[in-house]
Amino acid sequence: MTGVPDLAPTPERPGVHVAKPARDVPAHGSYACCCGASGRAQGDDDVRDLVAEWIDHRNTCPHR
Ligand SMILES: [Zn+2]
Repeated sequence: MTGVPDLAPTPERPGVHVAKPARDVPAHGSYACCCGASGRAQGDDDVRDLVAEWIDHRNTCPHR
């Protein structure tokens, strides 16, 4: 670990968080929703899918 603070969202603080510490380091990210849905991904492509999933979830979430 590099000591970077973990800013991962939680159901209490819903949102999406994506981190890419360096150009040659794969991105990682996670999201959490107030309804309890959450996800995480590692790798640029997977993180892009994760963000799309989060945006899609906000449109379909039962707890808006
Ligand atoms: Zn939700």
